[in-house]
Amino acid sequence: MDCLFCKIIDREIPADIVYEDDEVLAFEDINPQAPTHVLLIPKRHIATLNDIADADRALIGRLTQVAADLARERGFAEEGYRVVMNCNEQAGQTVYHIHMHLMGGRRFTWPAG
Ligand code: AMP
Ligand code: ZN
Repeated sequence: MDCLFCKIIDREIPADIVYEDDEVLAFEDINPQAPTHVLLIPKRHIATLNDIADADRALIGRLTQVAADLARERGFAEEGYRVVMNCNEQAGQTVYHIHMHLMGGRRFTWPAG
């Protein structure tokens, strides 16, 4: 399968990996939009949020939990941070392997652009 993030999981493409377990990989975004901008992905290929099945519930929960752990580790959990998942073209999804953006270390505005 020609998937950029699967290639990062398989170490075919380098990335600055900050967390890994059996189910989840987290690495620095190549084009950071905040002092911390980490992407969290499931190791199993799922193309979009629309493809999540009942069996993936725990996995998606785990992504969120790892994001919160990283926010704590990096010292901005209390001041606040943003977690985003873009789904499909209109939301700006460019890589079709689901990923959670963890961004922190600056103030964010709302509504998102
Ligand atoms: P999205 O637009 O939500 O699909 O997000 C895709 C993200 O992947 C963007 O923030 C990109 O900067 C990031 N990205 C693309 N290629 C790489 C790569 N090789 N390593 C790390 N991050 C990447
Ligand atoms: Zn993939």
